[in-house]
Amino acid sequence: MGQEQMTTNQISVERSTSRFSLELPRLTHFINGQYTDSSSGGSFTVVDPARGEPITHIPLGGQQEVDQAVQAARTAAPAWGARTPSNRAEVLLKIADILEANAENLQQLEGLNCGKPPAVAEDDINGVVDTFRFFAGAGRTGNTIPAGDYVEDTMSYILREPVCVIGMITPWNYPLLMAAWKIAPALMMGNTVVLKPSEVTPLTTLRLVELTESLLPPGVLNVVLGDGAGVGSAISHHPNIDMVALTGSVRAGKSVSEGAAHNVTRVHLELGGKAPVLVCNDANLDQVTDAVFEAGFWNSGQECGAACRIIAHESLLDKLVTKITAAVQQYVLAEPEVEHETSLGPLIYGEHFRRVATAIDDAVDRGAEVLLGGRYDDSSGFWVEPTILKVPNGDPITHSEVFGPVVSIETFSDLAEGVALANDTEYGLTGSVFTEDVSTAINVSKQLEFGSVNVNTHLALPTEMPWSGFKNSGYGRDLSAYALDDYSRTKHIAIQH
Ligand code: NAD
Repeated sequence: MGQEQMTTNQISVERSTSRFSLELPRLTHFINGQYTDSSSGGSFTVVDPARGEPITHIPLGGQQEVDQAVQAARTAAPAWGARTPSNRAEVLLKIADILEANAENLQQLEGLNCGKPPAVAEDDINGVVDTFRFFAGAGRTGNTIPAGDYVEDTMSYILREPVCVIGMITPWNYPLLMAAWKIAPALMMGNTVVLKPSEVTPLTTLRLVELTESLLPPGVLNVVLGDGAGVGSAISHHPNIDMVALTGSVRAGKSVSEGAAHNVTRVHLELGGKAPVLVCNDANLDQVTDAVFEAGFWNSGQECGAACRIIAHESLLDKLVTKITAAVQQYVLAEPEVEHETSLGPLIYGEHFRRVATAIDDAVDRGAEVLLGGRYDDSSGFWVEPTILKVPNGDPITHSEVFGPVVSIETFSDLAEGVALANDTEYGLTGSVFTEDVSTAINVSKQLEFGSVNVNTHLALPTEMPWSGFKNSGYGRDLSAYALDDYSRTKHIAIQH
């Protein structure tokens, strides 16, 4: 479907008189401590999603750049892995400090490249800084089996070692935050890194390289620019990469798993989500409204844990619809340079905009009632109104990830039916339940098949707690001390004495 067909020109967007005026980072690969040109001539246009105009072009690397980066990472690994945890922690803390000192620049770069409103960009960069600080501390401690004689006259102990060279592939929705979630625990555990940012949003990762180049020895952090089919696939198939960590779609996760299987490479996958918001008949509707207002539309719904699927007790439907539509209509579509308390940014690029617009139209064709929004406009940027749809139970939009500012509402009469609806999805990343009853909270939390379950809130996501999915949302823990396990290997030493 062409762009023109999607343009409705009926929705209003708060425009800024000027775009962020920023010096862009160096637009090259970074391999073995050197800014490195591409061996091939391919390039990719990075687009400003708020206006649909090109920002710049990046080179697309390929097998040759990945080979060079893997070689550099392998060469750097023994010395980096041999440093003490306290020494590596010092480096991570310095990285946190320099990122914090450049927070405004990073926020604006993320705003320019992703269209993020200031509050979202600020939250991202705060999260990045906190991630480096957390892992600097957490990596100096850990749980292990106590050393001792588990076989007579033989003492056993565990060494926790780096996995070695980690290939990382990151998405466009939280470009620097998802990179930090991977880089910080990996470096802390003594691994070295070959990272491919999303070709759509490489700018903050490249700025990270510039800010940290003097803090990290050559080869410890390498960045290769490219797309999934080229560099992504070269990383997942590479025989000298010891682990591949991906945050992205289920489609990319399956492809990376297949590639890694050729070399029995360890895989760490954080994939999509479809988070239910189960509203029991005793729920506090103000809490539900606050949660959906915030978590349903954060980052324009381009959030794997978005509160995008309300499943409400039928007795509450009318009241809930009134409250939620009143709250959500306070959002204002606005360019990232506009300071607004309740601004919502654009979608990331044209193809994704068309997917979201089609998902809305198809749901309406199947009988969804538009309670709010529903319109879209790509005449200048990729804008979709905050949209709330009342849909028939189990409508396809309730199962599949829309990844836009679209929340669906279904109803149930019996709680078991509500839980069954919530679990009826291929995804298992996060979900929430709203109830005033402690027993219901505990029992339903146990029944929900999601890696994170929130009660009376949605998307509580502290750095200290693991973020990881069940089912097709993947496996592998980001954040928390569990990530340190995922980015290390255990070796049992047994000594007969
Ligand atoms: P995507 O899968 O299109 O791309 C993610 C990354 O994978 C990009 O760098 C891309 O170039 C690369 N890639 C694509 N195909 C590949 C392949 N065949 N081999 C190797 N690499 C490949 O995802 P996206 O559109 O950038 O991000 C949105 C998706 O990410 C959503 O599904 C979202 O739910 C998911 N996500 C999950 C989490 C989480 O923590 N679970 C967090 C953020 C985003």
